[in-house]
Amino acid sequence: MNDYSENIAIIGGGIAGLSLGCFLSRKKIKCIIFERSSHIREGGSGISISPNAINLLEKINLKESLSNEGFFPEKINFLDDDNPITSIDSRVCCISREKLVSILYKRFIELGGKIIFDHEYVSFDSDNKILNFKNNQSYEVLHLAACDGIKSKIRDDFFDTGKPTYSGYSAWRCIGQNPHRDAYLQLSSNKHLVLYPITNSLSSFVGCIKTKKQNNESWIAEGSKDELIKDIGFMSDNHKETVYASKRFYRWGIYTRPLLKKYFTKNVTLFGDAAHPIVPFLGQGGCLAVEDGYSFAKLLNDSGNLEDAQNSYECIRKPRVKMITRLSKEQALHNHISNPLLRKTRNFLMSKTPIIDKQMDRIYRFEL
Ligand SMILES: Cc1cc2nc3c(=O)[nH]c(=O)nc-3n(C[C@H](O)[C@H](O)[C@H](O)COP(=O)(O)OP(=O)(O)OC[C@H]3O[C@@H](n4cnc5c(N)ncnc54)[C@H](O)[C@@H]3O)c2cc1C
Repeated sequence: MNDYSENIAIIGGGIAGLSLGCFLSRKKIKCIIFERSSHIREGGSGISISPNAINLLEKINLKESLSNEGFFPEKINFLDDDNPITSIDSRVCCISREKLVSILYKRFIELGGKIIFDHEYVSFDSDNKILNFKNNQSYEVLHLAACDGIKSKIRDDFFDTGKPTYSGYSAWRCIGQNPHRDAYLQLSSNKHLVLYPITNSLSSFVGCIKTKKQNNESWIAEGSKDELIKDIGFMSDNHKETVYASKRFYRWGIYTRPLLKKYFTKNVTLFGDAAHPIVPFLGQGGCLAVEDGYSFAKLLNDSGNLEDAQNSYECIRKPRVKMITRLSKEQALHNHISNPLLRKTRNFLMSKTPIIDKQMDRIYRFEL
């Protein structure tokens, strides 16, 4: 038996686990991350990080790393197919997932954090706080922080919530050599396409489509350019150029799980996609994971008591997650309108009223 009885055990070294690890370590709260993979890794795609998360990452001195490793686009240009609707100043950082996770990992290690790889969680005895892994290793720990993603085994073990279900949407993603200073969002019937620069020379493409077709065995499958083009159909020139400049293409089935009534139980707390996987149409899943980690570490540091921190964490996170979950679902309906009259009305509202800025202010404002 390995003795980590003074440590919060974090399962999963993704955005949620590493963020939580950094924010706890910054407050000198002992923690250890267990990751099933043999190293830190992330799929070949980009991610946009909005001010609600950027401001928190700044507290662990990562804003400069985000600027160095990612890209802050100047504008976001909205198109109805290839007709310009409006353009707004961008406030997001766009970065490759791999780079985001590696700067979080580097910061966690700098803060004195420890991560143990090749450890796949299998069970937790929450009365005796004994954690068991597939490699037959066992650890005595203080608390279990589940950051093991949408397919969370910890959520299955401790919260009766049903399996993840297909949302009805899939996303094609690729990264190509195609320099841009701005981001482009193409709205179309039953689909929307996102393009943003992640470095001075690379752009990331995400094409979200409404489709009944699910990937059977894996949620993520590598596909071909031809399949992408067939699935997506019409693309504006900038989107098309990025697709043609890309070499690898991934198709993601988008899955969700029902909203939870409880985020914690005895000695176990949920974070990130393990707690609240959402559709990605506002680019908020990873940002919420950062907010979760920051909130829990601050509440625990302020109260000095795990049970109090769990209660306050749930009270603070639930309404915000509920709001962003709802807005994210609604966003697909706005983005994918087919009816020409409704499209005209949407475009009018987007170009002639402050509707976009208001929505962003609502999402980007997070304080604790
Ligand atoms: C198409 C698409 C686009 C998106 N775009 C954005 C965006 O622009 N902005 C944004 O903020 N979010 C975006 N998201 C959402 C974002 O990717 C997720 O919300 C985020 O990655 C969740 O992080 P996580 O750490 O909770 O989970 P994960 O990233 O799934 O990490 C879980 C970790 O736990 C490990 N693990 C799993 N099980 C075990 C186990 N049993 N034992 C040990 N380790 C385990 C895994 O190996 C992994 O490292 C997007 C999602 C999709 C699908």
